[in-house]
Amino acid sequence: MQRDLIIGGEDVPPLTGDYFDVVAPESGRVIGRVARAGALDVDAAVNKAREGAVAWASLAPAAREKVLLAAADIVAEQGEALFLNNLIDESGSAITKARFEIAYTVDLLRTAAGEARRLYGETFPNDNPQRISMVFREPMGVVAVISPYNAPLSLLTKMAAFPLAAGNSVVIKPSEETPITALTFAGLLLEAGLPPAAISVVTGFGSECGGPLTAHPGIDCVAFTGSTQTGIAVGIESVKHLRPAQLELGGKSAVLVLRDTDPEAAAAIVAQGIFTHGGQICMANSRIVVERCLLDEFSAALKSACEKIYLGDLRDERTQYGPLINQRAVEKVLAQVEQAIAAGATLLTGGKVLRGLTIEPTIVLEPDRSLPLWREESFGPVASLVAADDLDDAIAIANDSEYGLSAAVLTRNIQWGMRAAREIKSGSVHIGMHSFQSNALAPIGGYKRSGLGRSGGRYSTEEFTEVKWVSVSLEAGGR
Ligand code: NAD
Repeated sequence: MQRDLIIGGEDVPPLTGDYFDVVAPESGRVIGRVARAGALDVDAAVNKAREGAVAWASLAPAAREKVLLAAADIVAEQGEALFLNNLIDESGSAITKARFEIAYTVDLLRTAAGEARRLYGETFPNDNPQRISMVFREPMGVVAVISPYNAPLSLLTKMAAFPLAAGNSVVIKPSEETPITALTFAGLLLEAGLPPAAISVVTGFGSECGGPLTAHPGIDCVAFTGSTQTGIAVGIESVKHLRPAQLELGGKSAVLVLRDTDPEAAAAIVAQGIFTHGGQICMANSRIVVERCLLDEFSAALKSACEKIYLGDLRDERTQYGPLINQRAVEKVLAQVEQAIAAGATLLTGGKVLRGLTIEPTIVLEPDRSLPLWREESFGPVASLVAADDLDDAIAIANDSEYGLSAAVLTRNIQWGMRAAREIKSGSVHIGMHSFQSNALAPIGGYKRSGLGRSGGRYSTEEFTEVKWVSVSLEAGGR
């Protein structure tokens, strides 16, 4: 099926005249063709969004809430029919991950709907009693939403629904790997009653479509989720125009396994934290740091947990993950693993392609910590496992990273857990859980090269609103 752009609620053919294939990573089958937008298409979408911004912003909070709640109801009732097959085909999601995304989307839309009523301002004291000072929160205008491929529905929902709740209009540029999900998402918001000019979707490639969108003078703010490399380029372009950019970028999250932990239970948690969606999760715990006294027992338990991971048909509920998004991603992961092994690391398990774009669950023992396997994001089903002398050493190893998105600590000792939580430099730390956690109200974002700003609940509202100081003099002729 061929899909056009969505501009102001209408299906609009691209001015470029070009379309591109969307390929299912599992089967290699072409599942659709979508418009390949260029700069002129972006221009049309942004201009339409500017028209829409005023009308949407001036609606009562209850009216914006109503639209987002209606969208949540549509996903709650028809989410599987609308999205399930496409999430499996387009992004290679296992059915359980696709269902998680759909359920989380309902949650995000409802949470965002509540935020529409919470554009709180404040007043503050003035030394002159005849003066009143207040602060208003106002929508920014048009938010460019540039999203990645790994969680094409739920991440896009988070990135678009909160700015919309705050009264902004959005122009969405989804990943070129997963544009169909984004077009369906926009369709459901329109069906829920979103004014057509408040949402547009420009499908296309990074430099041809994302670049012109980031640079467009009609954009007021950028919401970007993706790799650190692209995020830096988007951030630099935004600063050139003195526009804020909320950047959610890559990660290399550590999970600490402390001496008081049951090795089997810990292995199951750690395996889930790295292998969900084949490690294509920004918060995946790709660095496992184990207290040395537990290393042998834990390694054996983790190896056995890896060997039990079922990698069958994506529509089989036992399947834990499927293919990586494309051949480039597979080659990157295999090269990182091979290089670490060649430099002296031990392969605990995995290390090979199972079929097509699916890589076996892979654990590498004690890689050289200057190598990409330890330092760079792998975004695949591979984790490094290293030993630490004690808690202090484990925290230092966790902090040995340019990234700081999420972290986890497995212990039953709350003092140890809280110490690690306070001392690890990352946007979130989870005690007694793995590092991939979600909560629609939580501030998601990173320290260091993992990003700028936070999203979720009121944190998104703060990112996607302007703050305005208004003061009044009660004196006649007050200056
Ligand atoms: P990517 O950086 O390659 O692409 C992200 C988006 O940016 C895509 O829509 C792409 O087309 C667009 N883009 C590319 N070049 C551009 C340019 N010059 N200007 C504007 N837009 C451009 O990322 P990806 O490979 O799609 O996604 C995986 C990455 O996303 C991983 O690094 C992962 O950690 C990160 N991620 C982070 C979070 C988080 O919450 N921090 C969540 C999910 C994914």
